[in-house]
Amino acid sequence: MRCVFCGAEVQERRITEEHWVNGDLFVIEGIPATYCPGCDEIYFADEVLDRIDALLERKEKELGEARVLRVPLIQFEEAVECTIPAHP
Ligand SMILES: [Zn+2]
Repeated sequence: MRCVFCGAEVQERRITEEHWVNGDLFVIEGIPATYCPGCDEIYFADEVLDRIDALLERKEKELGEARVLRVPLIQFEEAVECTIPAHP
């Protein structure tokens, strides 16, 4: 199978993704995905997306059972003007 964006040969891969649900951060490991090494695009089967939704819904109800990661939340403090970088 080839990437619809860049035409490179894609690979099957398990990935880790972050999802926010009602203020709680869930990190899901082992999600089956199709990855493009050419442009870093990641594709998910519809069934996988449905299962992610169902898993998050279930886990949100059972939050006590989830392993809890301690994640530092830091602020970007400097005042920087937002400009679009010029590409040569
Ligand atoms: Zn691609």
